[in-house]
Order: sequence, then structure tokens, then C-alpha cells
Amino acid sequence: MHNVCLTAEPRRRMAEYSYQDAIAGLNKLLSEKGDLQTVAAVRIKEITAELKAAESKGFDPVERIKSGFARYKTEKYDKNPALYRELAKDQSPKFLVFACSDSRVCPSHILDFQPGEAFMVRNIASMVPPYDQTKYSGAGAAIEYAALHLKVENIVVIGHSCCGGIKKLMSVPDDGTTSTHFIEDWVKICLPAKSKVKSECHSLEFDEQCTDCEKEAVNLSLKNLLTYPFVRERVTKKTLALQGAHYDFVNGSFELWDKSRRSRRFADSCLSLSLSPVISCIEDG
Ligand SMILES: [Zn+2]
Repeated sequence: MHNVCLTAEPRRRMAEYSYQDAIAGLNKLLSEKGDLQTVAAVRIKEITAELKAAESKGFDPVERIKSGFARYKTEKYDKNPALYRELAKDQSPKFLVFACSDSRVCPSHILDFQPGEAFMVRNIASMVPPYDQTKYSGAGAAIEYAALHLKVENIVVIGHSCCGGIKKLMSVPDDGTTSTHFIEDWVKICLPAKSKVKSECHSLEFDEQCTDCEKEAVNLSLKNLLTYPFVRERVTKKTLALQGAHYDFVNGSFELWDKSRRSRRFADSCLSLSLSPVISCIEDG
């Protein structure tokens, strides 16, 4: 039996050669090693197809989705039958996570959430709007379902570095004029966070103000969560905890803080920032 590893190392090595070299090499391996394990042989064929598609047509979205699902099915789904049997019956995630739609900040990747662990809402700048039955029903429905039906024990709102949504918020003209169909109206949810940063950090450069606002917007979202009666009730009863977070993908750090402002940082370097306890009001219910 041949020990064929088709993960990071061969892929890295393959990247050093041309696609044609890689395809030729894989075909040679397939023809020489007739007794390769079936799974390994299938993977080689898949990778060969990916490389051919990449070489001949540039990016092929259908092929990317097909190969991505095939990889997930083989490497995750088929290897965890017990987990997926349980998940077929029900879900009981411990977390409701608000994260930005930004392609670089997927919580399942950065926090290694497995299927069934986190109920998720992703939107521009990971904002939680205040309770309003005439607007924002998408966010409201997700919070209601997570809090009342799934009974999640934690809600985490994650901001991140270089957030385009926050940059847009910080750039919205004071006269109220807009240049987008939806974006400015959406990010204005966190106008109070912008005002706070503009008044307290006016001497900072624009980019630094944006970084401050990425965190202040999280704090405002935590405060907004308390406008949902079913959230506030569970927080008061201490069956639900609210936490703010900031993921910095430039420095590779993750900061987490709770409503009493106790902050934990999971990297050697992180910006030191003074944040006011905007959600301390929930401490006493
Ligand atoms: Zn963002």
C-alpha cells in the first residue's frame, strides 16, 4: 500500500512547477502505481481536472464548486458519520455569531467552528440593527430563532481589520447624501459609533479612526442586541452571554471582550484601545 498524501506539501511543490509538469507527473504516478488506493486515485484525477481547467480556461466556477464539495464530502462528511447522523436530527449550536460578509473573515475558518457549532449571520460590517419590526426583519428573525428556539448560550459580534463597510460608514457625508442603493443606509445603523469616534478621536488619521470604529460598531451592536426583549430577558437571567470581538487579519490576532470590558487577546500583538463600557448598563439588568 502506498502512502500518498495529497494535502499541503504536494500542492506546494506542485505550485513550483507549471501546470503541464504537474499534470504529467500525476498521470505518470497513476499509470505506474496501479494499486494506489481508490480514494487517492480519485483525488489525483480531481486535481488533474482542476489543473487542466485552470490551465485551459482560467477560473472555472462550476469546477471549483464541484471539486470543493467533493473534497468536503471525502475529507469531512464521509469521515464523520456519527456527527452528521446527529446533525441530521437536530442542531443545538452554543453560539450565534454576527460576522462581516467580507471573504477574509469567515468564522468557520478563523475560529474552526465545526458543522452544528455556530448559528451565523453575516452582513456588511457585522452590524446588529436595533429591534424594529418594520425594518431589518432578516436580522430580527435570526436573533429570535437563535435565542428562543435554539437557545444559544452566547452571542458573539465580530468586527475586523480593514472593514470596507466601516470605511463606508466613516465616509458617509454629513449632509445625508448617498451614492449607493443600500450600503450607506445599512451601515448608518452604526452612526452613533461613528459620532463617538469622530468626537473622541478627531486627531487620529482616517485609517486609525476606522480601526477604532470597527470596535465601537461592535459595542453598539451589543447594545442593540439588548433592544430585543427575548435577548435582554435571557441576558438578565444569565442564560445568555454577549461578547464582542475584533479579528485583525493584518497582524493575525483576535480580541474578545465581554460586557464588563474584560478583554482577552489571542495573539502577541494587538492594538491597545480605550473603549468605553457602552454595554455596562446590562450588568444590573
Ligand atoms: Zn467588513
